[in-house]
Amino acid sequence: MSGKVYLVGAGPGDPELLTLKAVRALQQADVILHDALVDARVLLHARWNARRIPVGKRAGCKSTPQAFIERLMAQEAQAGRTVVRLKGGDPYVFGRGGEERRHLRALGIEVEVIPGITAGIAAPARAGIPVTDRDSCRGVALLTGHAAGDAPEPDWATLAKSGLTLVIYMGVSRCGAICAALLKGGLSAATPAAVVESAWRARERVHSTTLGRLPLDIARHGFGSPAILVIGDVARHAETIGASAIVQSR
Ligand code: SAH
Repeated sequence: MSGKVYLVGAGPGDPELLTLKAVRALQQADVILHDALVDARVLLHARWNARRIPVGKRAGCKSTPQAFIERLMAQEAQAGRTVVRLKGGDPYVFGRGGEERRHLRALGIEVEVIPGITAGIAAPARAGIPVTDRDSCRGVALLTGHAAGDAPEPDWATLAKSGLTLVIYMGVSRCGAICAALLKGGLSAATPAAVVESAWRARERVHSTTLGRLPLDIARHGFGSPAILVIGDVARHAETIGASAIVQSR
Protein backbone atom coordinates (compact mmCIF):
# COMPACT_ATOMS: atom_id res chain seq x y z
CA MET A 1 0.00 0.00 0.00
CA SER A 2 1.25 3.44 -0.87
CA GLY A 3 2.18 5.80 1.96
CA LYS A 4 1.36 9.43 2.25
CA VAL A 5 3.24 12.72 2.13
CA TYR A 6 2.46 15.59 4.47
CA LEU A 7 3.70 18.99 3.31
CA VAL A 8 4.01 20.71 6.64
CA GLY A 9 4.65 24.34 7.55
CA ALA A 10 6.85 24.68 10.64
CA GLY A 11 6.27 28.41 11.16
CA PRO A 12 8.97 31.06 11.51
CA GLY A 13 11.19 29.42 14.13
CA ASP A 14 9.79 29.30 17.65
CA PRO A 15 8.62 25.69 18.11
CA GLU A 16 5.53 26.89 19.98
CA LEU A 17 4.29 28.33 16.71
CA LEU A 18 3.76 24.87 15.25
CA THR A 19 0.17 23.82 14.69
CA LEU A 20 -1.28 20.80 16.48
CA LYS A 21 -1.73 19.16 13.08
CA ALA A 22 1.97 19.64 12.34
CA VAL A 23 2.88 17.98 15.63
CA ARG A 24 0.57 15.05 14.88
CA ALA A 25 2.09 14.56 11.43
CA LEU A 26 5.61 14.63 12.91
CA GLN A 27 4.60 12.01 15.46
CA GLN A 28 3.38 9.74 12.67
CA ALA A 29 6.28 10.20 10.27
CA ASP A 30 8.64 7.41 9.25
CA VAL A 31 10.76 9.85 7.25
CA ILE A 32 11.19 13.60 7.70
CA LEU A 33 12.79 15.79 5.06
CA HIS A 34 13.38 19.13 6.68
CA ASP A 35 14.68 22.53 5.64
CA ALA A 36 17.85 23.74 7.32
CA LEU A 37 15.93 26.74 8.67
CA VAL A 38 13.69 24.52 10.81
CA ASP A 39 14.47 24.73 14.55
CA ALA A 40 15.96 21.55 15.99
CA ARG A 41 13.35 21.55 18.79
CA VAL A 42 10.61 21.07 16.21
CA LEU A 43 12.14 17.73 15.30
CA LEU A 44 11.85 16.57 18.91
CA HIS A 45 8.22 15.74 18.12
CA ALA A 46 9.39 13.00 15.77
CA ARG A 47 9.54 9.34 16.79
CA TRP A 48 13.00 8.33 17.99
CA ASN A 49 13.48 6.01 15.04
CA ALA A 50 12.16 8.32 12.31
CA ARG A 51 14.68 9.03 9.58
CA ARG A 52 15.60 12.72 9.53
CA ILE A 53 17.00 14.04 6.27
CA PRO A 54 18.19 17.65 6.07
CA VAL A 55 17.51 19.12 2.64
CA GLY A 56 17.38 22.61 1.24
CA LYS A 57 19.76 25.46 1.17
CA ARG A 58 21.89 25.65 4.28
CA ALA A 59 22.07 21.93 4.91
CA GLY A 60 25.38 21.35 3.21
CA CYS A 61 26.20 24.75 1.77
CA LYS A 62 24.83 23.78 -1.61
CA SER A 63 21.11 23.49 -2.03
CA THR A 64 19.70 20.00 -2.45
CA PRO A 65 18.34 19.76 -5.98
CA GLN A 66 14.56 19.99 -6.04
CA ALA A 67 14.29 16.95 -8.32
CA PHE A 68 16.21 14.86 -5.78
CA ILE A 69 13.88 15.92 -2.96
CA GLU A 70 10.83 15.10 -5.04
CA ARG A 71 12.22 11.71 -6.07
CA LEU A 72 13.10 10.82 -2.50
CA MET A 73 9.63 11.73 -1.21
CA ALA A 74 7.99 9.70 -3.96
CA GLN A 75 10.21 6.65 -3.36
CA GLU A 76 9.56 6.65 0.37
CA ALA A 77 5.79 7.08 -0.04
CA GLN A 78 5.67 4.36 -2.71
CA ALA A 79 7.45 2.04 -0.28
CA GLY A 80 4.48 2.55 2.05
CA ARG A 81 6.04 5.02 4.44
CA THR A 82 4.60 8.17 5.96
CA VAL A 83 6.69 11.12 4.82
CA VAL A 84 6.75 14.61 6.30
CA ARG A 85 8.24 17.38 4.20
CA LEU A 86 8.83 20.05 6.81
CA LYS A 87 9.31 23.59 5.58
CA GLY A 88 9.91 26.92 7.26
CA GLY A 89 6.86 29.16 7.47
CA ASP A 90 4.08 28.01 5.17
CA PRO A 91 4.68 25.39 2.46
CA TYR A 92 2.84 27.39 -0.19
CA VAL A 93 4.39 30.81 0.45
CA PHE A 94 7.67 30.96 -1.49
CA GLY A 95 8.19 27.36 -0.43
CA ARG A 96 7.79 25.29 -3.59
CA GLY A 97 5.01 23.32 -1.91
CA GLY A 98 2.83 23.72 -4.99
CA GLU A 99 5.38 22.08 -7.27
CA GLU A 100 5.98 19.26 -4.82
CA ARG A 101 2.29 18.55 -4.44
CA ARG A 102 1.74 18.51 -8.23
CA HIS A 103 4.67 16.16 -8.74
CA LEU A 104 3.46 13.72 -6.09
CA ARG A 105 -0.19 13.85 -7.19
CA ALA A 106 0.87 13.10 -10.78
CA LEU A 107 2.35 9.87 -9.44
CA GLY A 108 -0.91 9.08 -7.65
CA ILE A 109 0.57 9.68 -4.19
CA GLU A 110 -1.70 11.00 -1.46
CA VAL A 111 -0.65 14.45 -0.23
CA GLU A 112 -1.93 16.48 2.70
CA VAL A 113 -0.90 20.09 3.19
CA ILE A 114 -0.65 21.51 6.70
CA PRO A 115 -0.33 25.30 6.61
CA GLY A 116 2.17 27.11 8.80
CA ILE A 117 2.54 30.68 9.97
CA THR A 118 4.42 32.46 7.24
CA ALA A 119 7.39 34.72 8.04
CA GLY A 120 5.77 37.62 6.18
CA ILE A 121 3.04 37.74 8.82
CA ALA A 122 4.94 36.42 11.84
CA ALA A 123 8.04 38.62 11.53
CA PRO A 124 6.13 41.93 11.35
CA ALA A 125 3.90 40.74 14.21
CA ARG A 126 6.98 40.07 16.32
CA ALA A 127 8.09 43.64 15.66
CA GLY A 128 4.69 45.09 16.61
CA ILE A 129 3.66 45.81 13.02
CA PRO A 130 0.00 45.13 12.17
CA VAL A 131 0.33 44.46 8.43
CA THR A 132 -3.23 45.40 7.44
CA ASP A 133 -3.84 48.19 9.97
CA ARG A 134 -6.90 49.84 8.49
CA ASP A 135 -5.78 53.38 9.28
CA SER A 136 -2.69 52.87 7.15
CA CYS A 137 -3.34 50.63 4.16
CA ARG A 138 -5.79 48.71 2.04
CA GLY A 139 -4.13 45.37 2.42
CA VAL A 140 -0.82 43.61 2.18
CA ALA A 141 1.23 42.14 -0.66
CA LEU A 142 3.63 39.26 -0.02
CA LEU A 143 6.50 39.58 -2.48
CA THR A 144 9.85 38.05 -3.21
CA GLY A 145 12.89 40.22 -3.73
CA HIS A 146 14.66 37.36 -5.38
CA ALA A 147 12.76 36.10 -8.40
CA ALA A 148 13.71 32.48 -9.04
CA GLY A 149 15.03 31.50 -12.46
CA ASP A 150 13.22 33.42 -15.16
CA ALA A 151 10.20 34.30 -12.99
CA PRO A 152 9.26 37.92 -13.61
CA GLU A 153 10.28 40.66 -11.18
CA PRO A 154 7.38 42.14 -9.19
CA ASP A 155 6.08 45.33 -10.81
CA TRP A 156 7.51 47.70 -8.18
CA ALA A 157 6.20 50.84 -9.89
CA THR A 158 2.61 49.57 -9.69
CA LEU A 159 3.13 48.36 -6.13
CA ALA A 160 4.45 51.81 -5.17
CA LYS A 161 1.03 53.24 -6.04
CA SER A 162 -1.05 50.39 -4.66
CA GLY A 163 -1.69 51.57 -1.09
CA LEU A 164 -0.68 48.09 0.07
CA THR A 165 1.82 47.24 2.80
CA LEU A 166 4.74 45.62 1.00
CA VAL A 167 6.19 42.60 2.75
CA ILE A 168 9.29 41.37 0.98
CA TYR A 169 10.88 37.96 1.47
CA MET A 170 14.48 37.31 0.41
CA GLY A 171 14.89 41.03 -0.14
CA VAL A 172 18.06 41.92 1.75
CA SER A 173 20.62 41.36 -0.97
CA ARG A 174 18.59 43.22 -3.60
CA CYS A 175 17.29 45.89 -1.26
CA GLY A 176 19.05 48.75 -3.07
CA ALA A 177 17.47 47.96 -6.43
CA ILE A 178 14.03 47.33 -4.90
CA CYS A 179 13.99 50.60 -2.96
CA ALA A 180 15.20 52.54 -6.01
CA ALA A 181 12.40 51.04 -8.10
CA LEU A 182 9.80 51.92 -5.43
CA LEU A 183 11.10 55.51 -5.19
CA LYS A 184 11.01 55.78 -8.97
CA GLY A 185 7.44 54.49 -8.87
CA GLY A 186 6.48 57.43 -6.69
CA LEU A 187 6.73 56.17 -3.11
CA SER A 188 8.13 58.88 -0.82
CA ALA A 189 11.61 58.44 0.66
CA ALA A 190 10.01 59.19 4.03
CA THR A 191 7.75 56.10 3.85
CA PRO A 192 8.27 54.06 7.01
CA ALA A 193 10.23 50.85 6.51
CA ALA A 194 11.46 48.08 8.77
CA VAL A 195 13.66 45.04 8.57
CA VAL A 196 13.01 42.08 10.84
CA GLU A 197 15.84 39.58 10.91
CA SER A 198 15.56 36.05 12.33
CA ALA A 199 12.14 36.72 13.83
CA TRP A 200 11.09 34.29 16.56
CA ARG A 201 14.61 32.96 16.78
CA ALA A 202 17.51 33.41 19.17
CA ARG A 203 19.23 36.31 17.42
CA GLU A 204 16.27 38.30 16.19
CA ARG A 205 16.68 41.99 15.36
CA VAL A 206 14.25 44.71 14.34
CA HIS A 207 15.31 47.87 12.62
CA SER A 208 12.96 50.75 12.01
CA THR A 209 13.82 53.33 9.35
CA THR A 210 12.51 54.91 6.13
CA LEU A 211 12.42 53.72 2.55
CA GLY A 212 15.10 56.25 1.61
CA ARG A 213 17.50 55.01 4.27
CA LEU A 214 16.73 51.31 4.23
CA PRO A 215 19.54 50.08 1.92
CA LEU A 216 22.21 52.07 3.75
CA ASP A 217 20.94 51.02 7.16
CA ILE A 218 20.88 47.37 6.14
CA ALA A 219 24.48 47.61 5.01
CA ARG A 220 25.58 49.61 8.04
CA HIS A 221 24.05 47.26 10.59
CA GLY A 222 24.92 44.13 8.66
CA PHE A 223 21.41 42.72 8.30
CA GLY A 224 21.33 39.42 6.46
CA SER A 225 19.15 36.46 5.60
CA PRO A 226 16.65 35.40 6.86
CA ALA A 227 14.93 38.74 7.03
CA ILE A 228 11.63 40.31 6.08
CA LEU A 229 11.37 43.87 4.79
CA VAL A 230 8.21 45.81 5.55
CA ILE A 231 7.56 48.97 3.56
CA GLY A 232 4.52 51.15 4.16
CA ASP A 233 2.91 53.32 6.77
CA VAL A 234 2.32 50.37 9.15
CA ALA A 235 6.10 50.01 9.56
CA ARG A 236 6.10 53.12 11.77
CA HIS A 237 4.67 50.92 14.51
CA ALA A 238 7.85 48.81 14.62
CA GLU A 239 9.06 48.54 18.17
CA THR A 240 10.95 46.30 20.52
CA ILE A 241 8.04 44.09 21.60
CA GLY A 242 9.65 40.84 22.55
CA ALA A 243 12.55 41.40 20.21
CA SER A 244 16.05 41.15 21.53
CA ALA A 245 17.56 44.08 19.66
CA ILE A 246 16.28 47.13 17.89
CA VAL A 247 18.16 49.87 16.16
CA GLN A 248 16.17 53.02 15.44
CA SER A 249 17.31 55.59 12.96
CA ARG A 250 14.15 57.25 11.81
N1 SAH B 1 7.92 29.35 3.23
C1 SAH B 1 8.58 30.37 4.04
C2 SAH B 1 9.41 31.31 3.19
C3 SAH B 1 10.61 30.64 2.55
S1 SAH B 1 11.59 31.77 1.65
C4 SAH B 1 7.51 31.14 4.83
O1 SAH B 1 6.31 30.97 4.56
O2 SAH B 1 7.87 31.86 5.74
C5 SAH B 1 12.83 32.19 2.84
C6 SAH B 1 12.66 33.63 3.28
O3 SAH B 1 11.63 33.73 4.27
C7 SAH B 1 13.87 34.23 3.94
O4 SAH B 1 14.82 34.68 2.99
C8 SAH B 1 13.26 35.39 4.71
O5 SAH B 1 12.94 36.45 3.84
C9 SAH B 1 11.95 34.76 5.18
N2 SAH B 1 12.06 34.20 6.54
C10 SAH B 1 11.93 32.91 6.88
N3 SAH B 1 12.02 32.76 8.22
C11 SAH B 1 12.23 34.00 8.73
C12 SAH B 1 12.40 34.52 10.06
N4 SAH B 1 12.38 33.72 11.13
N5 SAH B 1 12.59 35.85 10.20
C13 SAH B 1 12.61 36.67 9.14
N6 SAH B 1 12.45 36.23 7.87
C14 SAH B 1 12.26 34.92 7.67
